[in-house]
Amino acid sequence: MAAFGTVFMPEMSIAQYRDGQWQSPRISAADTLSLHPGAHALHYASTCFEGLKAFKHADGSVHIFRLDQNVKRMRQSSELLALPEVDTALLEQMIVDIVKHFKRDVPEPPGSMYIRPTHIGTEPAIGKAASAATQSLLYVLLSPVGDYFAGGTRPLKLLVETDGMRCAPHMGMIKSGGNYASALNPIMRARAQYGADQVLFCPNGDVQETGAANFLLIDGDEIITKDLDSSFLHGITRDSILTIAKDMGMKVSERALSVDELLERAQKPKTEAALSGTAAVLTPVGSLIHNDQTITVGTGEEGTQTQQLRRALNEIQWGQREDTFGWLTTV
Ligand SMILES: *Cc1c(COP(=O)(O)O)cnc(C)c1O
Repeated sequence: MAAFGTVFMPEMSIAQYRDGQWQSPRISAADTLSLHPGAHALHYASTCFEGLKAFKHADGSVHIFRLDQNVKRMRQSSELLALPEVDTALLEQMIVDIVKHFKRDVPEPPGSMYIRPTHIGTEPAIGKAASAATQSLLYVLLSPVGDYFAGGTRPLKLLVETDGMRCAPHMGMIKSGGNYASALNPIMRARAQYGADQVLFCPNGDVQETGAANFLLIDGDEIITKDLDSSFLHGITRDSILTIAKDMGMKVSERALSVDELLERAQKPKTEAALSGTAAVLTPVGSLIHNDQTITVGTGEEGTQTQQLRRALNEIQWGQREDTFGWLTTV
């Protein structure tokens, strides 16, 4: 099986912004992009993206999960990066059109079609370090993906990082390239030095998130996760899991979680921890490394609550459970 995100459908949907307006979107070859080497995004990181999925149901129909929320977040990222305003109807239509175009290629569950809308500032102007690009490209790539959990779920090992941070605090809620570049060195160091899978960024002892997923602590019937502020990414999977948890009668506590509290609760036998994100769905966390010591979370294995929440989410996505929250858009 090819690595996640390395296989692409041969065409994408693409639209250009120039002269103060969006041009009509086209479907074009997805293997090349013609760009001036002085393009704003390449120098000043005016770039953001989204990640969402389309699922195939047993009757062959195809459904996009939480399309509206991903488009909304793309609009927000674009606005916070001073990119041209993304038109909601335009982007929704581009996503639906390209998924429809490759409807037959959407893998069956547990696979799915990963959708990657991208927005980049293209104006060739290297003197514009301190001003916005007036031209941009918006395009939607598709990448068929298999079962993330093929071969079983191995609980992750996270390095608890209290010194550094993932990105500048005012940039955290933007799904923007620069933030991933900013987190890359700490993550590579954590892998090399500790054999960690990911870094759990906890600036000043405040448990935030990892490089590309949100963090949830599950203690009995309670889920604890950081309340939304501008310092971290507002995951749509996070929101979906919390909604399902409330619906199941669990207590959802969105509040500050300190590293001290995390480490104390982690040592209780029934505690579970997990990462949430579109790619990883809900992945168990088995251990935490802090001050060169390894702390096992609960039993160190995937817990029953994590399993149950992931199953409920998957069943909605796969059309095996009623979509009571109206999260699916049929293409
Ligand atoms: C994309 C992302 C998430 C997860 O968001 P979802 O909407 O659940 O996919 C969390 N943290 C970061 C930094 C991300 O980039």
